[in-house]
Amino acid sequence: MEAAPLESLVREHAPVRRGHFLLSSGMHTPYYVELEAIVQDPGLTATIGRAIAERFREQQPQAVLAVLGPDAILGYEVASQLGAKAIFADGPLGRRTLRPRFQVKPGERVLILMGVIVTGDSARGLMRLVAAAGGQVTGAAVLVDRSSVPLQLGVPVETLAVFDLEAYHAPLCPLCSAGQPLERSME
Ligand SMILES: [Zn+2]
Repeated sequence: MEAAPLESLVREHAPVRRGHFLLSSGMHTPYYVELEAIVQDPGLTATIGRAIAERFREQQPQAVLAVLGPDAILGYEVASQLGAKAIFADGPLGRRTLRPRFQVKPGERVLILMGVIVTGDSARGLMRLVAAAGGQVTGAAVLVDRSSVPLQLGVPVETLAVFDLEAYHAPLCPLCSAGQPLERSME
C-alpha cells in the first residue's frame, strides 16, 4: 500500500483521546493515541502489518520485537507476514526485559516494532535488549511518531503516520498547574 493511504488509514482508525495522561516516557500529555482501536480489528491489523512487512522484507528480519500490549498484536502480525518469529518485552521503561522464554539468539536479525513513539527512549531500550543478547537490530517500524524531534536510532526507521501532539516534562505541564487529575496510560 502507498504511504499516503496508509497514513490516512492510521489517522482514520486511531482516535486521539483528550485528558491528562502519563506516558511511559514520564512525559505528560493532553492526548492519548488509542492504538487499541486498530489492533482489535484483525482485518485492519493484517492490512497495516502487511504494509510494514513489505517495507522491511529486504532486510530479512528473523524476529520482530515489540512491547506487550497493543504493539505486540501488530508485531505478531508483522512477524507472521515476514515468516519471522514474534518476541516480546515487558516491564516499565528503563527496566524492560524480554519476556521469559522469548529469546534473541546471537547474530539474529531483529526488527523493532513501536506503536507510538514519544521520546524514542522505549525504542532505544529495546535496541539495547537485542544488543545485550548478541542480536542485530536491522530496523525500526513506527506506527505513530508523535515526537517533536526527528527520531535518530542509528538504524533505518519507517514511520507510518506523524501526529503533531504536545507532550510536556512533568514540571512544565499546564494540566498539572490547572490541577487536572493525571490518568495513567499504557502508551
Ligand atoms: Zn501533567
